[in-house]
Parts: sequence; structure tokens; C-alpha cells
Amino acid sequence: MVENHIGGILDREWTVTVGLAERQGDLLDDVTRFCDETLPENSIYAVLHRERDRLFPDEMFADLFSDRGRRSVPPSVVATVMVLQRLEGLSDREAVERYSFDARWRYAAGVGGYDCGGWASFAHTVLVDMRARLGASDDDRRIFNVTVEAAAAAGLVGVKRVLDSTPLYDAVATMDTITLIRSAIRGLLKVADDELEAELRSVLSSGDDYASSAKPQIDWDDPTAREALIDSRAKDAFACLAVLDGRELDVAVAEAAELLAKVVGQDLEESVDGRFRIARRVSKDRIISTVDPEARHGHKTSSRGFDGYKGHAAVDPDSEIITDTTVTPGNAGDASVAEDLIDDLLDDHGDTETEDPAPQGPTTQGPTTTSGTKRGGGKGRRPGRNKNNKAAARTGRAEARRSARKARLERSRAKSAGRDERNARRAVYGDAAYGTGEFLSRLEQAGIEPMCKTQLAHAPGGRFSKEQFAINLDDDTVICPAGATADIDWGADGGGMAHFDEHCANCPLAEYCTTAKGGRTIRIGPHEEVLARARQRQADPEWATNYRATRPKVERKLGHLMRRKHGGRRARVRGNRKVDADFNLLAAAQNLARLAVLGLRSTVTGWAVPTP
Ligand code: SF4
Repeated sequence: MVENHIGGILDREWTVTVGLAERQGDLLDDVTRFCDETLPENSIYAVLHRERDRLFPDEMFADLFSDRGRRSVPPSVVATVMVLQRLEGLSDREAVERYSFDARWRYAAGVGGYDCGGWASFAHTVLVDMRARLGASDDDRRIFNVTVEAAAAAGLVGVKRVLDSTPLYDAVATMDTITLIRSAIRGLLKVADDELEAELRSVLSSGDDYASSAKPQIDWDDPTAREALIDSRAKDAFACLAVLDGRELDVAVAEAAELLAKVVGQDLEESVDGRFRIARRVSKDRIISTVDPEARHGHKTSSRGFDGYKGHAAVDPDSEIITDTTVTPGNAGDASVAEDLIDDLLDDHGDTETEDPAPQGPTTQGPTTTSGTKRGGGKGRRPGRNKNNKAAARTGRAEARRSARKARLERSRAKSAGRDERNARRAVYGDAAYGTGEFLSRLEQAGIEPMCKTQLAHAPGGRFSKEQFAINLDDDTVICPAGATADIDWGADGGGMAHFDEHCANCPLAEYCTTAKGGRTIRIGPHEEVLARARQRQADPEWATNYRATRPKVERKLGHLMRRKHGGRRARVRGNRKVDADFNLLAAAQNLARLAVLGLRSTVTGWAVPTP
């Protein structure tokens, strides 16, 4: 038994053996002849018809099936249908209908008309089963990887990347606090065995049987009634958790109890009279639905919020091929996955981590000056930084995927070596969300040109910004606009603080600088020099022109990914991993459409596109 792609339980019959598609084709078949004559060569249907068996042959999916049992629908046919389904934004039933009755789909899948002996139709659950098999495999991104490998072999994947993200709205309704608590208690009662359920029910004091998902019937305009409802359900939740405290629980009960604990912990606070009420704060990592507990409230801009996930993509700006994707909860920062998105760029060039990058000479931005790395002097020492934290945090699954993809890309790139003069220089483009000190440092260490915008410092009320203070890391001092000097006190996090306290008391410029009674303080980040260099770089008009000409290309690509309603902006599955797999398949479909436009063909020497 395995959980399927739509959250149900699927009977996994591993005794199904891989079905093999007919590769010869029937030259006299009406559908094939008609499509050969009418479809343009660079339509995705023509490319899939022509190259399907090289892109994703049945053997590529053999590990998903047993070596005994009945034959499956040939996976090359199913993969073709999955790609077209994602490209056209169709449900499983709609996709199978198109396969059965649309001549172009049959042509693309290589099954021709109904006299060919190919599969006339199949149940929509075949698509569900295929996704479940892929999801349970070691390489659930194989269809996407094939598109990137073909593009790389054809010389279409260079050494520039543009990064961006887009909101993916969750497939479930966002819950209010009372619905969250009731739903979590109901979930716990559901997974408990009869004995435990009876024990849990015996401590419920609200009178709620938690049988229905409907909201309790109270006068919602009456604040006292609302408060009593919250308090009673909170006490039920804590009573259940008290029953389970310290016990050895099976996995399902433990997970349900953990979810209940998180839900009551994030939204409630206890008043002095012992009553529970909704807390007047929003928890940082707040669960918004017990049906999809991994979805989060996120912001694409400060004024535009959404509930769900973020789809992140890396795009080659020259060919507009998507080279990598990932999905995170909606509240994850864009820079948190930036390194993963360009791992092929970092690794394929023998990048090794080194100490801090050598500074490129003194940097001046307005009166602010940073130069050299701190090498003694001053009041403190900057502690060493653990640059391997991110790598250590990667899951084993992501590492395995990364290694497999890297090996394949290396093979593909080896074939196309020497073809990429236009890509002589590695560069990564991104908006201000990627212009963090940590990510820019990583790019500099790897010798990659950082083309990510960095936020300029601002101070509230139009007062002196940090830019107007001269930061000198050689002697660990900061000089303010009034000429006062403060030492930098370095902290354990690699950052420091300069306090101008005694200088500010009688300063004539104080009204333009600070309202703090203790005087102005300037925070020095662990990556201060890198950020200073980035701000200096982006002030160059040539840099700005290059940035404006290149970065928007990723927005157009994300627009392509989101243009279909079903499975585009609105996720059609639940859970980070499934949304990730769905977004990745969508990117594969877009890559194939792009490769078709570029005229991808297999030749005796490998993949190629016509040279302009
Ligand atoms: S208020 Fe303090 S930090 Fe600001 S300019 Fe005056 S002395 Fe310098």
C-alpha cells in the first residue's frame, strides 16, 4: 500500500511488469500520416512523436515495476500523457480523454489510430499510479532531468542562471483557530485505536463530540460566547495531550498529537485567570491548515500575501531552459534555496570552498569605506564561520538527486564541450531577495559573478542611513557623519555592533541621526564587505544595463508556468514533496515545449539544435 498523488491510498501491485511500446510505428496509419503532414516540425507533438523513445524510453522506468506480472501501459506513453497534461493544465480524467480522442496526443504518444494495436485508452488511475511509483522511487525527477540533459547536450545550458520564485496557492482552505483546533482533535481521535479513543473522549469537557467539521453553533457576534468556545476547545486539546504525555505512541498517533500541540501552541495564550484565548500575535511558522500542515502564509511583496508554497526556478537566460526547480513552504526566503538551485553551476566547475574571498581593493560608497578582511587589531576578533551548515542540512534524498543529476549533466556537457564560447563567464542573476550577504559570499567564493541586486540601507524618518557611516574593518572602527569614531564589538555570530552612545549626547547632528536615548548604534553584518562591494557594483550603469536586460527573462518563464489554471498558480496536490514533484513536472513540460521551438533533434552524434 502506498499513498497516492492525491492523498488517497493506492493498492501497490508490484507484480506489474513494465509494458513496452511498439517502436516501429505503422507508416500506413491514418493518424500518423495526417499529423506528419499537418503538424509543424517544431510543435511539441511532433517532437514527442519523433524523439519520445530517446527522451524517455520504457526502460528508463523499469525500476518502478516488477520483473513478473501483467504488463503495464508502456511508461513512455504514460510519461508523454503526463507531460502534455501538465502543459495544458488538465485533470487526470481530462488528460486520458484527450489521449483517447485527440489525434495529436495519440501521434505524440506513438500509438496512432485505433487499428494500430496501441493502447486505445486506459483508466485515469494509471496516471495516479505512475506518479505514486515515481514519488516512491530514488529519482522522482527523471522526466525533468531528461529535458535538462538533452538541452545541455545540445549546447543550450550555459553558465548563467536567473533565479526567481512564484507563489503556489495551496489546494486546501485556510483554517481559523477554532477550526484548526477542532480539526486537530478530530484527527487525533481518528487515528487512535478504540481503547485510546475512549480514554481521550473521557477527558473532553466541552461536550463537543468532534464528529463534524462544521463550526459549532454559537452566536458569533457575542464576544463572550466566542471566548467560551475557544477556552473549552483549548482545554479539550490540552487534556488530550496530557493523556498522551510520556507514553510510547505509534507513528500516526504521535504525528497527530504533535500537530495538535503545534496548533494550540501557536495560536493560544493563557490569561491570569487560567482561561485560554487567541494570542494577539502571529506565530512565525504558523500552521494554516491541518489538511496540509506544510503550507504556510507567505509574502511575495510586503503588501501581497498568499497561503501555500513557493515554487523556485533557475533559468538559463540565453536558451530560456529551466535548469532546476524546488518548492518550499510559502514563508521561506528566496535566498534559502538559491544555492541548491545553482548546485550544478557550483559543482561542475570544480568549485571548492575557501576562506573569505580576497577583497578587491578598498571599497568606497559615499563616505562609507570598507577594506580588507579583519586580521587583528580593534577590540574583538571575528569568529570563524561555518559555511557548511547549509550543505549539512540538506536531506539525503536531495543529495542523491543532486549527485545523479550532476553525473548526468557532466556526461552531457562533456559531449558538447567546446561549443559554449558565449558562456565563458559564470553569473547568477536575481532580485533583491537573493542579494543577501551569505549568498553573495558563496558566489564570490565560487568565482561566479554576482548579478543579484542588494538592498540599500535606509533609516526611519529620513535620518542618516548606514551608508553614511564609514565602516573600516582594518581597524574595527566606524566613523559617523559628525566625525566621531566608535569601535566595533564583534559577536559570536560573526557580526558586530558599533555604539556611539557618549558621542551622541551633545551632537549638533543628533536630530538627523537618531531618536534613541542611548545614542546611535550601527550593526555590522558578518558579510559586510561583500555587501559593500555589491552596492558599489550595482551603482555602475553597465552592471544595471546587463541586469535589466537579463533578469526579467525568468519572470516571463514563470508566467509560462503559471498560465494554466489547473496545477499552475493553484497547487492541485497537498504536501511540500508532492507540490514539488508537480511543479518539477510542469517545468519539464515547459522545457520540452521550448526545446521543440528551438528545433531539438537527435542525430548520430547526440542531441542538436539548428545553428542560427
Ligand atoms: S548622533 Fe551620534 S552617531 Fe549620529 S552623527 Fe551625532 S555623534 Fe554621530
